[in-house]
Amino acid sequence: MRVLVVEDEVAMAETVRDGLRHEGFTVDLVHDGPEGLWTATEKPYGAYDVIVLDIMLPGLSGYEVCRQLRAGQVWTPILMLTAKDGEYDQADALDLGADDYLTKPFSFVVLIARLRALVRRGAPERPAVLRAGDLTLDPAERRVLRGDTQVPVTPREFALLEFLMRHRGQAMTKTAIIENVWDAHFDGDPNIVEVYIGYLRKKIDHPFGRNAIETVRGAGYRLAEEG
Ligand code: CA
Repeated sequence: MRVLVVEDEVAMAETVRDGLRHEGFTVDLVHDGPEGLWTATEKPYGAYDVIVLDIMLPGLSGYEVCRQLRAGQVWTPILMLTAKDGEYDQADALDLGADDYLTKPFSFVVLIARLRALVRRGAPERPAVLRAGDLTLDPAERRVLRGDTQVPVTPREFALLEFLMRHRGQAMTKTAIIENVWDAHFDGDPNIVEVYIGYLRKKIDHPFGRNAIETVRGAGYRLAEEG
C-alpha cells in the first residue's frame, strides 16, 4: 500500500514514515502544501492508496490541498491531522472532503488501524451531478450551470438549490428547507427562505427567461422537473 504523508514537523513526519514502513506500507513524505498537492495530483512515484494530510502546512494549508484535490477530481482517501487548538477542527476536515481525521497527538496504532480501514473502503465515489432540464449542479466541483453558462452562487444558495434539485418535482415546505439547508435549531425568521429563493431566481431563472423555481401556494417551493 502506498501512502503519501504531508507533514511539516520533520521529526514527527519521519517517525510516522518509519513506523508505516515497518508495517509494510510504501511511504513518500513531503513537507509543505504545494508539494503535497503536486505529488498527490501528479503521482510521480505511483498512485496513492491513502494520503495523510496535516492541516497546518507551509505554503498551502491542508484545508486548501484537500479542497483542490477534490476539485481536481482526485478521490484518494484522505486522513487529516488536526490540532486541538488549531484554526480548523474535525468537522471542518470532513466538510472539506477528507474521509477521516485524527487529532494530534495520536496513537500510532490508531493511525495504522484508520489507514487500513480507509484503504479497505477505497476511494469515495464521485458524487453524482444533478440535472433538471439544462440546469446542472455538480456537488464535487461545487458548480452550477444553466446550459453552458456557469452561474456563481454563494454556499447557502448552492445548498438551497442542491436541496431543491434532490427533490425536484416535489413541493418542499419552508420548514423542510430550513431544517435541511440551515439547521434544525434555526430560530431566526423563516422568511429567510423567501429571500434566498429570490436570490436564486435572479441567478438561475430570470437572466435566462425561466421559471424553474415555482411557488406552490400554501405548500412551499418546487423545482420544476424540466427546469
Ligand atoms: Ca503542521
